[in-house]
Amino acid sequence: LGHELVEHATPARLAEAVRQGPPPLPVPPGLADYQARGGYAALRRAQAEGATGQARLLEALDAASLRGLGGAGFPAARKWRLVMAQPAPRHLVVNADEGEPGTFKDRHCLETEPHRVLEGMLIAAEAIGAAACWIYLRDEYPHLHRALAREIAALDAAGLARMPIHLRRGAGAYICGEETALLESLEGRRGYPRHKPPFPGEHGLFGRPTLIHNVETLWLLPEILAHPEAAAAHAAMGRRGRQGLRFFSVSGRVRDPGEKLAPAGVTARELVEEFAGGMLPGHRFAAYLPGGASGGILPERLADLPLDFGTLDAQGCFVGSGAVVILSDRDDLAEAARNLVRFFREESCGQCTPCRVGTAKADALLRAPRWDRALLEELAAGMADGSICGLGQAAMNPVRSLLRHMPEAVP
Ligand code: SF4
Repeated sequence: LGHELVEHATPARLAEAVRQGPPPLPVPPGLADYQARGGYAALRRAQAEGATGQARLLEALDAASLRGLGGAGFPAARKWRLVMAQPAPRHLVVNADEGEPGTFKDRHCLETEPHRVLEGMLIAAEAIGAAACWIYLRDEYPHLHRALAREIAALDAAGLARMPIHLRRGAGAYICGEETALLESLEGRRGYPRHKPPFPGEHGLFGRPTLIHNVETLWLLPEILAHPEAAAAHAAMGRRGRQGLRFFSVSGRVRDPGEKLAPAGVTARELVEEFAGGMLPGHRFAAYLPGGASGGILPERLADLPLDFGTLDAQGCFVGSGAVVILSDRDDLAEAARNLVRFFREESCGQCTPCRVGTAKADALLRAPRWDRALLEELAAGMADGSICGLGQAAMNPVRSLLRHMPEAVP
């Protein structure tokens, strides 16, 4: 509905908004548009070079300091090398199942430049000698499914793809964005995360070595490979010693929320002031979620920390997929933490006890008029230590970070 309408809602204005319905969904640009702007030149070069071009591609990834931007931040070149070292056949999987609350970068990339993502995917597939590409797309993006199906057919007709591209609908579960649950779902089973090791680079889709990349990582590839200096130029754009650019999905109490392409190492305060137009009138910056639901909650006094992989660990938080939610003095922080834990309770796949039972117990404990801090800490430690995957390990991050940094906000 927009902040202005929410803040000044009247029954008549809300009824009018409902009558008008949401704005029309964008139609992503097609192949001809992308090629007219020089698109697919980097792919054609990679195809022409074949195996001899692998070293050049890996050098460029290293020079750009490109990391997997789905949340874990693993260096992309290391992932490629791991998969390349395994015997064929290999697979490439695109994780487009973005379900992290507050994250909308995959949607942005695919709505505005789908062929840039497809070109990045095909370059990576050529580099690792993939037998096939698999795109696992969040099912709540039906307009993108239609667009990708159309554009993949156009790629095939143009002879640009040298391996099959399979487009698959996500199963509607948050957990299927976890890479091994995604593989299970692609194979036609319930989306239960796998134990690691073995890692997907060795034993992935259908038991074969598999390179899994997020949409944003692939979106960055064609530009990094555009010319010999491009990778170094990309790396030089970071702040505070960090390298490169990345998307931040900025939402909450700011004037201009949205997808912001910003230097790695930018701070939350800079995102608010430089990129998101400042705080909404009548709101004072109080706290922020640096990494969606699972990345914890930090107070405004820690808004000058660089948002990058590893730099928030000491605060018990992480930046993950770059969903930065800005909260104000008009928000109830304890209720925000309660809401996030309820979300994890809903989305727990139920495979392992610490997460299945732990999220339910936490939800119940957080409904008490006074929080039992010692019991919550004990429960959080057990869940972090004993859960199979990141959902259960990080589900209590909002509560733990609130207890640690803003105990005055806790009942
Ligand atoms: Fe499923 Fe939670 Fe266990 Fe992950 S931690 S496997 S989501 S029950």
